[in-house]
Amino acid sequence: MIEEVRLATTEEVVAEIRRRSSFVMVSHVKPDGDTLGAGLGLGIALKAIGKRVHYFQQDPVPRNLRFLPDTDFVSRELPADLPGDALFVFGDMSSASRAGEYLPPVERKNTLNIDHHLGNERFGELNYILDSEASTGSCVLVLLQAMGLAITAPVATCLLTCIMTDTGGFIHSNTTPSVLRSSAMLMEAGADKVEITENIFANKRFAAQRLLGLALSAAVLEEDGRYCWTYVDDGMLRSAGADGEDTEEIVNHLRAVEGVEAAALFKDFDGAVRVSLRSSGRINVQAVAATIGGGGHFMASGLTYPGDLQAAVAGVREALRNAGL
Ligand code: AMP
Ligand code: MN
Ligand code: MN
Repeated sequence: MIEEVRLATTEEVVAEIRRRSSFVMVSHVKPDGDTLGAGLGLGIALKAIGKRVHYFQQDPVPRNLRFLPDTDFVSRELPADLPGDALFVFGDMSSASRAGEYLPPVERKNTLNIDHHLGNERFGELNYILDSEASTGSCVLVLLQAMGLAITAPVATCLLTCIMTDTGGFIHSNTTPSVLRSSAMLMEAGADKVEITENIFANKRFAAQRLLGLALSAAVLEEDGRYCWTYVDDGMLRSAGADGEDTEEIVNHLRAVEGVEAAALFKDFDGAVRVSLRSSGRINVQAVAATIGGGGHFMASGLTYPGDLQAAVAGVREALRNAGL
């Protein structure tokens, strides 16, 4: 039997961070507010105590996250003079491959994996996985508090962005009393909740709302109303004047249909079929995604389907049925 890699304690991670002087915060492809906010929040806090910090992210910063501090420094390039003992901090990803293909190979001894996904592959030298936390930013908050670092207003804004992203603005079932307490503390530390709300949940481009209309018009209700799915393809993006960043909220509207237990959005553009899955609480969509090479959480997961849209629709339906839908 393969022995599972042990999780790191808070003390071990704090000691490792103290020992290092240079860091690269690594965010996942198609970044969201959690992966980016966690890297920026930790990075800004470490720069304040004299550490050198870079931010690696393969894809550009999405329009709705450009309000976050330090996003001008996020890049898919690493500096030529990066010290050999820089610690690569992977945030919010269950497998290292989620960093994308532009990240040069990193020696395992230089990796710290901070995450809250179920089924994290524990690919780091140190694996700080708190899967009962609502966001990776919440894991960073635990570390910063253990280090006794000041939570400045910019750091607080980054970490509250993580929480608000992954709780859907305090709506999803991961919004525990502890999440609300941390959020209150972050607001007291100066987090700008109004700005976060505006950028992430309001301020939609007209094109995004038109795309939502097209996607909802194409939605299908199956399995006696327990499963709702739709798709977005290149033609719909073109006709709405939208792009991939405008697809974020669509799947939540499917999940919100009464009686729906599982929802899926098939994103058929950029040369692949990527699938977002959401549950209403009975079906574990992380387990469903994991059977097709994806991952995520009980209530929200994703995967890239190895096949065309038609195959993806059939394959995901089958996987959901196998999971008891
Ligand atoms: P999304 O539907 O893109 O918002 O993703 C929902 C959740 O699934 C997030 O926690 C993602 O990290 C995770 N996820 C999305 N796509 C993948 C993938 N291809 N592999 C593993 N996890 C994924
Ligand atoms: Mn994420
Ligand atoms: Mn997350």
